[in-house]
Amino acid sequence: MTTSRNIESVAAAFESQYGYAPAGIWSAPGRVNLIGEHTDYNLGFVLPFAINRRTYAAISSREDSLVRVSSSFSPVQHEVELGQIAKNSDNDWAAYPFGVAWAIQKLSQTTGKGFDAYFESDVPVGSGLSSSAAIECSTALALNELWNTGLSRAELARCGQLAENEIVGAPTGIMDQSASLLGERDHAVFLDCKSLEAQSIELGFDAAGLELLIIDTRVAHRLNDGGYATRRAACELGASQMGVASLREVSVDQLDKAKEIMDDVAFRRVKHIVTENERVLETVENLRAEGPTAIGALLNASHVSMRDDFEISIDELDTAVDVAIRHGAVGARMTGGGFGGAAIALAPIAKVSEITLAVLAEFELLGYGKPNIFTVTADQGARRDR
Ligand code: ADP
Ligand code: MG
Repeated sequence: MTTSRNIESVAAAFESQYGYAPAGIWSAPGRVNLIGEHTDYNLGFVLPFAINRRTYAAISSREDSLVRVSSSFSPVQHEVELGQIAKNSDNDWAAYPFGVAWAIQKLSQTTGKGFDAYFESDVPVGSGLSSSAAIECSTALALNELWNTGLSRAELARCGQLAENEIVGAPTGIMDQSASLLGERDHAVFLDCKSLEAQSIELGFDAAGLELLIIDTRVAHRLNDGGYATRRAACELGASQMGVASLREVSVDQLDKAKEIMDDVAFRRVKHIVTENERVLETVENLRAEGPTAIGALLNASHVSMRDDFEISIDELDTAVDVAIRHGAVGARMTGGGFGGAAIALAPIAKVSEITLAVLAEFELLGYGKPNIFTVTADQGARRDR
């Protein structure tokens, strides 16, 4: 899985698909969220990082306005006229690159040219590692260059979000695209989702002898059917009951008031968001002051909050977290939107294989599907590779 092999392979696949060599190759990473879950659309804080798994896009402009996309994921080539891109009704993957093309034109108020694109990816799909942001951001960086639209990386992140909201039809926030575009090696992206100000925060996992394990339960999450939307609605209701525009404006001290005026479920949804924002801020402080060994308790507390208050965990994720902590992880939590997907465990390198074997054994004992367990490092964000 070396980058140069990926570049050769996607270039060759483009050529066999379209019969000529691509103008360039761009790539963008998936991301993992270290802490700050469901806080993005509440205009709070998140702390994701770009991972060393990427989507490679080989792309060329065309002289006409036809857009053709194909992917190693499926043999079917999709095409559309640039001016005809509309909300996706048949759940088609092509909505991601089509949506980005639509969004860049909308945000930059320009009309682009058609293009041919071919995608290859080693970001696991539907695991909470945002293969969707990887395909969006590789496309966005490429089109911004090919079309000379001159949008900033922050604006391109917004284009990815717009594509996902308006064309794919998933009501997601801006975190994933920000991480994929703004990530740096060994750093997390500390994003204020209200001001959209982003800061690079050194992680120092390597220097501390730690690795981040992904425990992908392989239970597929479906963001557009139910749980995610009802949590968003609960947060909106909570904010309006507190008389504020978003839960970002509610402090931990005000939770007593929230408890008085809301029913138990509504209160617990609000409590998760408010305390999670606080945990992100503390995680950043601890990383700066003491390094990554000092963030374990915050990761654990985040999981408990999602399990008991926000209620978006599932048994497989709880098991992964419990076993990882029992076998020496510094901290662990589910990550991503919930109802499936992956857990993360920050662990001393010497404990990684013990944790892996213990999780595999426990999943088998409980009759769960076999999880996919691997480590990730914090890697560079979207870039042009050739
Ligand atoms: P996640 O972002 O957590 O991986 P999503 O459901 O948000 O899960 O996005 C996954 C979808 O993104 C896939 O089902 C597919 O439609 C699309 N996708 C991601 N990467 C690719 C790719 N390389 N080729 C084609 N489609 C892709
Ligand atoms: Mg996604």
